[in-house]
Amino acid sequence: MTLLHVPSTDDLTDEALAELNAEFERSSAGEVVEWAVERFHPQMCLTASMTDAVLIDVATKVEPAVEVVFIDTGYHFPETLETLELVRRRYGLNLRIMTVTPHAVPVWKSDPVNCCTPDKVAQLERALVGKRAWMSGLRRQESKSRQDAPIVSRDRRGLVKLNPLANWTDLDVEGYIADHDVPVNPLLRKGYPSIGCWPCTRPVIPGEDPRAGRWAGLEKTECGLHDEVAP
Ligand code: SF4
Repeated sequence: MTLLHVPSTDDLTDEALAELNAEFERSSAGEVVEWAVERFHPQMCLTASMTDAVLIDVATKVEPAVEVVFIDTGYHFPETLETLELVRRRYGLNLRIMTVTPHAVPVWKSDPVNCCTPDKVAQLERALVGKRAWMSGLRRQESKSRQDAPIVSRDRRGLVKLNPLANWTDLDVEGYIADHDVPVNPLLRKGYPSIGCWPCTRPVIPGEDPRAGRWAGLEKTECGLHDEVAP
């Protein structure tokens, strides 16, 4: 692979990011991860929601010790926690679980719009301390709010954010899962194309936006982890 050589990744300019994105659009996800691992590992992590393990499969083939972060809000479906354990064993993950401290009264009941920010996003902030870059499995086809997501960017903290699967279609994902026998959350096959916490996730019907089941009835569309794509 011949990717742009950028002398100092901490000084990535807007122009350099634009050139990298153009190049990454023609690269495989593994090549994008290789670029990131070469420059940032071990000061880099991968955040996982345990909807599927596609990015984990891609990334651990490049660097088995890549740090995988899972934020346990205390409200995950049992299927999600079972998938976490399955994936942890399958890949021997360097797993870091960030646990939200439970509230006496669940915040999603009293203030569902703001529940994610003080709890879930705060755990992400903790996980990113000391990091220079992070990766997620976010894809453009997942929702309108994600349709312009870049493969590489600077996030609001100034860290390098990579979405190596940004330009993957649903078919690409299905094909990769089948070809590589990648673990998936069983809820995916039960009408949940996007899986978050149980109080805020419902199944979708055919034709609905894949993320229509998240915070249904509220204007909220993102939890805030990726607010550079949906402010
Ligand atoms: S998805 Fe719902 S329960 Fe989970 S952190 Fe966000 S608002 Fe709270």
